Amino acid sequence: MLFRRGKADRREVETHRVSVMDQRILFHQPSLDREEEREIVDTLRSGWVTTGPKTKRFEQEFAKYVKAKYAVGLNSCTSALHLSLIVAGVKEGDEVITTPITFASTANVIVHQGAKPIFCDVEPDTLNIDPKDIEEKITERTKAIIPVHFAGHPADMDEIIKIAKKHNLVVIEDAAHAIEAEYKGKKIGSIGDTTCFSFYATKNITTGEGGMLTTNNKEWAEKISIMSLHGISRDAWKRYGEEGYRHWDIIHPGYKYNMSDIQAALGLAQLKKIEEFWQIRERYTQMYREAFREIPQIQVLGEREGIRHSYHLFIIVVKTEELKANRDTIMNEIQKEGVSIGIHFRAIHLHPYYRETFGFRRGMLPYAEYASERVISLPLYPKMREEEVEKVISVAKKVIGGYQKR
Ligand SMILES: *Cc1c(COP(=O)(O)O)cnc(C)c1O
Repeated sequence: MLFRRGKADRREVETHRVSVMDQRILFHQPSLDREEEREIVDTLRSGWVTTGPKTKRFEQEFAKYVKAKYAVGLNSCTSALHLSLIVAGVKEGDEVITTPITFASTANVIVHQGAKPIFCDVEPDTLNIDPKDIEEKITERTKAIIPVHFAGHPADMDEIIKIAKKHNLVVIEDAAHAIEAEYKGKKIGSIGDTTCFSFYATKNITTGEGGMLTTNNKEWAEKISIMSLHGISRDAWKRYGEEGYRHWDIIHPGYKYNMSDIQAALGLAQLKKIEEFWQIRERYTQMYREAFREIPQIQVLGEREGIRHSYHLFIIVVKTEELKANRDTIMNEIQKEGVSIGIHFRAIHLHPYYRETFGFRRGMLPYAEYASERVISLPLYPKMREEEVEKVISVAKKVIGGYQKR
C-alpha cells in the first residue's frame, strides 16, 4: 500500500513538472487577486466611480509611501510627464534633455509642448542618463531635464540636481519603473521638482491604466490637479454658497487626465502588497544574476552602492559582437523555446519620427546605440514560479550558448 501511494505521488509530481515546463512563460502577468476584487466591488456599489474619495485616499497613501508632500492621481505616467512640462513652463522653441533609452512617452511629451528633445548618452553599467553628457548639451534654450530611473535603478540624482541648480533647470523624474526605489536614503518621488509614476498593466503595481505625480511644491500640485481636469478651478466650488447649483470656472484650457475611483480602488489594494511583490522580484533577480554572472557573452546591468533598486526589469545586454547571431535572432529563438521576452528599449533618437524631424542619426550616442541593439528583458514578476525562473535561465543559456564563436 505504502509503496503504491508513493508511486502515485511521484507520478503527480512528474505530471506537474511537465506542465510547468511545457507552458509558455508570459513576459508579464499582473498580480490581481481577492483584495483587488473586493476594492473594485466596493467602489461599484458605492455609486461613485470617477475621481472621488478613493482617488484622494490613494493619493495620500502613495505620497506617504514615497515620502512626498503632494501626490496627484492621473490616468497615466505620460499625463504626469506632460503636466510637469506645462507647469515648468516648457514651450515652443525650448529644449529638454533626456535619455534615448526610454519609452516613447518620455520624448513624445516634449514634442507635444513644441520643444526639442535633446538626448544624452547612457552609462554602460546602468543604462541611465550619463550626467557627464548633460552639461555639454545645455544651451540657453534648455528648460528641463527628464532622467529615467531605468529598469528601477535610480539615475545619479546628486549630479543631476547639481547641474540643474547651476543652470536653473527643472528636474522631472520619469519613475515609471521605480516606485520602490531609493537614492542615498531618499525615496524616489521625494527628490526632483516632480516625479512621474506609472500603473500601466506591466508595471510594479497596476491600476490597469493610471499614473501619479508627486511633488513637494504646493503651488505646482494645485496647478497640476486643476490642469488634469479641464483647467476647472476648484476654488470656484467654494465661492458659490453651501447649497444648490455651484458654478465652475475654466481658468486654463486644461486636459482630461484625471484618475477614476475604479483605478484608485485597484491602486489601494496593490499598494498594500508592494513590498511583498518587491521581495519576490529581488529573489528572482538574484537568481538571474547568479546564473549569468559567469557567461562572458552576457552583461548583467549593475547595482551601485547607496541605492535601492526597484527590480522592475531584468535586462541582459547580449554581446553579439562575440556571437554568431544578432539580438533579434536570439530573441526569436528564446521566444520559440516558450519564453516571452521584452525589449527595453530601442533608442528613441533612431526611430523614424525623431530621425526625420530632428535629423538625429546613428553615431550620435555610441553607448545607447550599442545597448539598443543588444538588450533583452527577461520575465520578472511575482506571479512567476521559481521553476519558471529556472526555465528562463536554461533557455537563455542554451540559445546564447548555441551561437558561440569558436
Ligand atoms: C511605461 C512607461 C511610461 C509610460 O507610462 P504610462 O502610464 O503608460 O503612460 C513612461 N516612461 C517609461 C520609462 C515607461 O516604461
